[in-house]
Amino acid sequence: MRILVLNCGSSSVKYQFINTDTGSALAKGTVQRIAMAGASITHKPTGKDTVVIESELLDHTAAIDLVVKTLSHSDHGVISSMDEIDAVGHRIAHGGETFTDSALVTPSMMTVLHDCIELAPLHMPAMIRGIKACQRVLSDQPHVSVFDTSFHHTLPAQAYVYPLPYIFYDEYRIRRYGFHGTSHKYVAQRAALLTGKPFDQSRIITCHLGNGASITAIKDGQSIDTSMGFTPLEGLMMGTRSGDVDPAIILYIMDKEELSRREGNSLMNKHSGLAGVSGISADMRDVVEAMESGNERAKLAFDIYCYRLTKYIGSYAAALGGLDILVFTAGVGENSPQARTRVCSTLGFLGVELDESLNQKTRAVEAEISSAAATVPTCVIPTNEELVIAQETERVVNSEQPQTAVR
Ligand code: AMP
Repeated sequence: MRILVLNCGSSSVKYQFINTDTGSALAKGTVQRIAMAGASITHKPTGKDTVVIESELLDHTAAIDLVVKTLSHSDHGVISSMDEIDAVGHRIAHGGETFTDSALVTPSMMTVLHDCIELAPLHMPAMIRGIKACQRVLSDQPHVSVFDTSFHHTLPAQAYVYPLPYIFYDEYRIRRYGFHGTSHKYVAQRAALLTGKPFDQSRIITCHLGNGASITAIKDGQSIDTSMGFTPLEGLMMGTRSGDVDPAIILYIMDKEELSRREGNSLMNKHSGLAGVSGISADMRDVVEAMESGNERAKLAFDIYCYRLTKYIGSYAAALGGLDILVFTAGVGENSPQARTRVCSTLGFLGVELDESLNQKTRAVEAEISSAAATVPTCVIPTNEELVIAQETERVVNSEQPQTAVR
């Protein structure tokens, strides 16, 4: 099946056109600055040169129309008409408690997605706009939503209910939802394959360390705990997000600095984390470079980032009752041997030990990086959320087809 995978932001659309039979992308690209001056599409057909086309784009419908035209363009296209797109998979940040699995887009789903806006106000409006726009442009194709939250629907109540008055769970559905679910599931499955362990009978910890970062404990193929919570702010220290802090601190700062709710939110989400502590950058590359040239605040930011991750790994190993595989993925996890070394340096008691020469040379490829003495394998697995979304879309579309009788 050939599937268009879309990830819609407020002024951007990221896309990949994937052939699920081969598991490879035929083309990928990004539309930027939708409804702004200087809008453009950057399109990379596999095996050919990247093209950048500027175009006035009034809204998401115009942007997706441009994606489809570019995919079927006579020079840099990869299909001859839009009929060769079999289905569309949409990355959706939040499925609330309703969607525990990927599903076909229907009018009743759209109602639930609207209800989820208040749970993920930064992401959901653009994603809903993206679905509507895409249904207008590709009206004959089935559309499937794949949710960042759905892999975590197996969390037990002890992991998802917060120790607040229970009425707030009943009234407002305040609970841990978890995010990056497609990534955690994918890299755990790949790591199980790589190490020859059964995914559905293993205790796996997956560390997704990108701009946003989260860690998940997976037992026998199911997510049993994860660090992001009601929103993607909780848990690990991230590029610009604080992760876990004493909630009283934010109230205290808002009071002292006379901040509005919006400013308080922005402080925790956009000005904290690596950027906030280092004062240099949200990008781990810049932080490591500054640290290596002697910058003390960059070193502190790196130390906090790694220390907090190590503590989470220890607590999740306890929650799992042991550990069979440790996995690193996403920008930092795939590319920063310095972070992996530091995080694993005190995990010998779990059986985790890196082979430093393997660790140093491993960048963005699937590899086991543990030493011969390690009893628990540590793996680097590049995440591929788009491929999972394409595969999920195919599965849902096939399961919705009328079944032919089997004799
Ligand atoms: P992602 O959200 O997965 O695209 O990850 C983006 C983040 O990965 C960037 O902000 C960087 O902090 C980090 N990153 C990417 N490449 C490297 C690298 N070579 N070394 C360290 N961090 C990296």
